[in-house]
Amino acid sequence: MKPKIWLSSPHMSGNEQSYIKEAFDTNWVAPLGPNVNGFESDLQSYLNEDIHVAALASGTSALHLGLILLGVSNGDEVICQSKTFSASANPIVYQGATPVFVDSEKDTWNICPEQLEIAIKDRISKGKTPKAIIAVHLYGMPYKVDEVHNVASKYNIPVLEDSAESLGSHYKNQNCGTFGDLSILSFNGNKIITTSGGGALVTKTKEQKDKAVFLATQARDSAPHYQHSHIGYNYRMSNIVAGIGRGQMTILDSHVAKRRSNHELYVNAFKNIDKITFLKEPNGYFSNRWLSCILLDSKSTREGLRLALEKENIESRPLWKPMHQQPIFNDAPSYLNGVSDDLFDRGLCLPSGSNLTDIELDRVVSAINTYFALC
Ligand SMILES: *Cc1c(COP(=O)(O)O)cnc(C)c1O
Repeated sequence: MKPKIWLSSPHMSGNEQSYIKEAFDTNWVAPLGPNVNGFESDLQSYLNEDIHVAALASGTSALHLGLILLGVSNGDEVICQSKTFSASANPIVYQGATPVFVDSEKDTWNICPEQLEIAIKDRISKGKTPKAIIAVHLYGMPYKVDEVHNVASKYNIPVLEDSAESLGSHYKNQNCGTFGDLSILSFNGNKIITTSGGGALVTKTKEQKDKAVFLATQARDSAPHYQHSHIGYNYRMSNIVAGIGRGQMTILDSHVAKRRSNHELYVNAFKNIDKITFLKEPNGYFSNRWLSCILLDSKSTREGLRLALEKENIESRPLWKPMHQQPIFNDAPSYLNGVSDDLFDRGLCLPSGSNLTDIELDRVVSAINTYFALC
């Protein structure tokens, strides 16, 4: 069997272990310490000096705290992009609120501003103004920021920006992760940079950051004994893990460049295969191309190609299955136009890691060429 080619695997810079060693040498083996503060300030410098960053245990915990900060509670409704990973939607349920799913548009594959407005108007007519909107930059492609935020501000609804897949992407020269009233990042093992597991909440004010850190560290009141006036969580990032993050920040831009070059390579390699199309970067959009995705002409070509790659020990995966199709969210209201269903049927993510070698990329390209030569 040929060696496995992964969709997106961790890619260390070599600098990570010195930060971890320092943590051990100084005995900062805890969910606080110099690496946590250092990683937060590295992210802040990268994104925008005017924002604030709270390093947390995961992107999911960041979404959960984000919803709490936006005041989402029992019985509320929260609008969420249907085409996304389940972690975008699950924290709505943690808060006892109901997700309302909104379909995508074709230009970025993200939340459709027209469907969004239809959904908001309909929810309001049913007596419930949505408490927040979760918009996602899928696969690193920014959503239609101006259009989505115009609708949100027209109805005075805050946006929680899910930037888990889009660190290093930007829109009209502003970094993804800085558009939402609150925004989140993820550093899970397959993301553009990884801390093995981790995430961050990005806030506009220092007060919001302090409140997130307070809640993430069990909500201890300032008293010599353990006293609590709020329900707390154990969501802070460990100082060891943050050391990996500091090392990863040193190569973030080169990871973005490599992922973009993987994408370019696929575009060029398959330009003569009509059954394969790509999502183009609209003017003013810059995608980190976290995953390189292709659209096939039909669901059966998609599945045939996926199985052909599997035979070659090459991992590929259909695009995210929309939340409105998930059994657990059967009863959730949804506002649909068919776009995310079609993308799920015909889309495939190809190996996209920043550590892919030329030999591995050649294997992917020839496996796909062979499949289309034969079919
Ligand atoms: C990975 C991911 C998350 C969750 O982040 P974790 O760090 O794995 O908890 C949330 N939303 C999207 C779109 C993701 O891809």
